[in-house]
Amino acid sequence: MATLGTPTNTIEVLKKYNFNFQKKFGQNFLIDTHILEKIITASGVTKEDCVLEIGPGIGTMTQYLAENAREVVAVEIDKALIPILSDTLSEYDNVTIINEDILKVDVNRIVQEKNGGKAIKVIANLPYYITTPIIMGLFESDVPLESITIMVQKEVADRMQVGPGTKDYGALSLAVQYYAKPEVMIQVPPTCFMPKPSVGSTVIKLTRYEKPPVEADDEKFMFSLIRASFNQRRKTLVNGLTNATNLKTGKKDVLKALEEMKLPSAIRGEALTLAQFAELSNLLSLIGK
Ligand code: SAM
Repeated sequence: MATLGTPTNTIEVLKKYNFNFQKKFGQNFLIDTHILEKIITASGVTKEDCVLEIGPGIGTMTQYLAENAREVVAVEIDKALIPILSDTLSEYDNVTIINEDILKVDVNRIVQEKNGGKAIKVIANLPYYITTPIIMGLFESDVPLESITIMVQKEVADRMQVGPGTKDYGALSLAVQYYAKPEVMIQVPPTCFMPKPSVGSTVIKLTRYEKPPVEADDEKFMFSLIRASFNQRRKTLVNGLTNATNLKTGKKDVLKALEEMKLPSAIRGEALTLAQFAELSNLLSLIGK
């Protein structure tokens, strides 16, 4: 099987299997070998690594991973792609294909079985609607992982990196920055995909911290506060937190914590840094959630 990352070879495979693109699965396949090589370099994958690839498509990136990593596990939701993947990856004995929705896969088990519980690297090129739940799921479930190299829409990459005072700042920025160091690696124009998407993409690498950059005594509680603050963006932090049905924080307690942090009582959640959310969460835990 020839290397797939060119328009001609991709079209040939798609025709052979009479493949129909599924919009609901966000199927845009890479057709640029330079970009594929750059993603491999950016991910830092070596022959020592076990890699989880989410959404292999017809196996374009998977072929590169099979050549560069020790072991590859590729999880693809679309069953129409499974016979294609068996064909395009038939030369490799270090690739396992799983036909499943990644959100239903027990990634911890894969890490145990394929890498003896040692940290894996994750590579993904996915539709936007699923990016946040996947990233958060991997981080929050404490899957042993070194890094996630992921292709996302440009705005999503911006959202992952920004701090307070920008319109893109939100729960995703704080969550990503609590668990990992985000680095923009490559800009990918629409012409590198088939079919051509309407917007450009960015490859961002999230390298997991061994220890988060701030100390939150109760991580779950801090993230409940963060979510509640950004659910009601136009409200003050005090109102956002006291209106949230899943929190038992009283208005007086939030005001007291803000006073202790020397922050104005009318401040909005979107003005707080990650360190300030951690401090607020620690103070409110002390006062009594
Ligand atoms: N990696 C390939 C490439 O770069 O050419 C394909 C990328 S395409 C943007 C996204 C792929 O993710 C598709 O093959 C799609 O079927 C798959 N996908 C979408 N949602 C998924 C999910 N929940 N779990 C696993 N795979 C999914």
